[in-house]
Amino acid sequence: TLRTSEWQYPRSQLIYMRELGEGQFGKVLLMKAQRGIAGFKRDLPVAVKTLTSRDPQKVAKFMEEAELMKKFSHPNIVSLLGVSTDDVLDDDNAPLMILEYMPYGDLHAFLENNRPGSETLSVSLGDAHFVSFATDVAEALKFIGEERFVHRDIAARNCLVGAGLRIKMADFGLAQRLNQNNYYLDGEGGVLPIRTMAPEIFLTGQFTISSDVWSYGVLLWEMVSYGALPLPGMTSRDIAEAAQTRTLHHTTPPDCPPVLGSLMAQCTNHYPNLRPLFTDILTQLTQHDP
Ligand code: ATP
Repeated sequence: TLRTSEWQYPRSQLIYMRELGEGQFGKVLLMKAQRGIAGFKRDLPVAVKTLTSRDPQKVAKFMEEAELMKKFSHPNIVSLLGVSTDDVLDDDNAPLMILEYMPYGDLHAFLENNRPGSETLSVSLGDAHFVSFATDVAEALKFIGEERFVHRDIAARNCLVGAGLRIKMADFGLAQRLNQNNYYLDGEGGVLPIRTMAPEIFLTGQFTISSDVWSYGVLLWEMVSYGALPLPGMTSRDIAEAAQTRTLHHTTPPDCPPVLGSLMAQCTNHYPNLRPLFTDILTQLTQHDP
């Protein structure tokens, strides 16, 4: 488990640099890991996820997420480098998750900042970028599915942008292992990401690989729309109603690259069995006409 010393990193060796963002449970800080971490010999900038609450249930969830990230070693998934958790109970310290630092931040903010005409524009995004982002995320999700997990919260804000504009999936706070019948039933009554969620979940509460595929389709929509809110003009209640009457529909954004428009339509098919698998999606992304 994470209590084993190989993952433990002494918090005294972490030097604060600045705040990167604020998550649901605490801040994410940019820090310098002074002593070699995860095989790196020198100082390394790292992203440190903290937990503000001392509620034992939240601490347990946080530890669970760290355990999961330890298993998910893939080039398109943010790497866990270490944890500082063994001294949590003794000293009232916050548990820390030490993650690989992704210099361009989350994909949602990155898209908004680089919207054509924006004052903050630093990269002029084109079709090739969007196809590359789509491929990176599909690789991560193919891997997660092969490990028999569902992510359940696929959205631009949960993808991070790194060097060379490579995308890695992050935020496994909602990820769950699939049962023998290939679904995970939501019994926690937690907050669900309804704008990106597959319509059958409103009816059955079941998360499957196919429901991750739907959310991936909506993520493609978010990309090509530069981080706009999916299902504009619809309230949560409108969305729930449309889901139940099978009338939920994402319109293709203007100037959408044809391969992504086609994938969006396939992924957001109302019938889960008719949605493509991530292997099919990857084939289509590599074989499309430029
Ligand atoms: P939300 O549910 O809104 O996604 P969260 O709890 O999932 O919130 P976190 O994953 O904790 O949010 O991250 C909060 C913010 O911190 C991100 O949006 C991102 O801007 C930044 N961040 C998180 N991890 C990293 C990282 N490894 N490198 C760089 N920035 C990061």
